[in-house]
Amino acid sequence: MTNINGQTVNQEARSELSHLAPKNHIKGLLHTKEEAKKIPREFECEKHGYFKAKFSEVMNGKVMVNAVCNECIKEFDLLVAEKEQEILAKREKIKTEKQREARAEKLKGRGVGKRYLQNSFDNFNVDTPSKQNALLKTKELCRCIIEGEIAPNLLMVGGVGTGKTHLANAAVIELTDSGKDCGRVNLIDMVRRLKSTWSKDSEESEESVLKMYSSCDLLIIDEVGVQFNSDTEKMFVFDVINGRYEEELPTVIISNLDVAGVKEIIGDRCIDRLRQDGGKVIAFDWESQRA
Ligand SMILES: [Zn+2]
Repeated sequence: MTNINGQTVNQEARSELSHLAPKNHIKGLLHTKEEAKKIPREFECEKHGYFKAKFSEVMNGKVMVNAVCNECIKEFDLLVAEKEQEILAKREKIKTEKQREARAEKLKGRGVGKRYLQNSFDNFNVDTPSKQNALLKTKELCRCIIEGEIAPNLLMVGGVGTGKTHLANAAVIELTDSGKDCGRVNLIDMVRRLKSTWSKDSEESEESVLKMYSSCDLLIIDEVGVQFNSDTEKMFVFDVINGRYEEELPTVIISNLDVAGVKEIIGDRCIDRLRQDGGKVIAFDWESQRA
């Protein structure tokens, strides 16, 4: 692995420590034979005392004279080795920071903002059997997806602050870390994005957006609670849910309403699709946990 200047760790360490490099006691490395005869055999290092210079004949009758103290070289090599470790640790740190940033960026694009990166299955509060059940069902869904089994659809209904979104975020994080394609999106944002493809300036086609929502390993549609104005919007939702149904891909629907309320918003046809393949309803029927 080299740095941006193409230096190896060793080169980078040596160049950072160049001011400490052992001193050559004569000028130049190569000398003619005549010059070499005049060069003393011994030199004196201020720190280590007398040492012998090394003479070796190279091409064209030139003599290479190395007048560097061996002890100084050994000491310098130790410094270089330490510096190499420092550089490696620094490079590793930069790498993990970059990986962490890339992961956070990816999760943000999948609907899990920075604030929610801490949401995990491990820190979901399970002090009642129904919370335990909600956690187990969500974990089981992720397990099926990770292991390539057909996973059930889930309908998570219940009041504000009961932890539905926490579990949804935890699922997106778990699946993302396992290399699966998934996302959490608010219903209104999904519909808006599909609808915006109808504009002439749209850079995305309806087909490509539909495909994105219909083909990921898990789609979590959150905040199903705002009434739509038109059948067009209901149609978009059906297209997504039906597309996923046809691909045998699971969908999670999250709402503060009850099942009847959800049905009113997304329509009977969507609910029917979600019920097939063993869809489950998880009722988050406990008090809000928000302070
Ligand atoms: Zn020395």
